[in-house]
Amino acid sequence: MFKERLKRLLQETTDALAQAFSANQTLADDWQRLPTQQEYMAKHEGSVLDASGVACHHCGSGDIAYRPLQSAKGRRLVHFCTSCKRALFRSMADF
Ligand SMILES: [Zn+2]
Repeated sequence: MFKERLKRLLQETTDALAQAFSANQTLADDWQRLPTQQEYMAKHEGSVLDASGVACHHCGSGDIAYRPLQSAKGRRLVHFCTSCKRALFRSMADF
């Protein structure tokens, strides 16, 4: 009986881990699919405001913010438009 419970617990843990891993993998794939800032600027020339600024090519807003892909300690950043909330490009935090 104890063995059965242990077996079930182990199975549940394995399932949960597999699920978490697959979600994490999807996130990483999505990030990888985003262009870099250079690629973004080259692809959307009309969305370049000046040497340092880019604008959203969806809505034209120049208000671009970024957040870490996962945890606050993660180095993978996603830059997104604060107006329409769409992810625009990726970068690597340098710390
Ligand atoms: Zn936008």
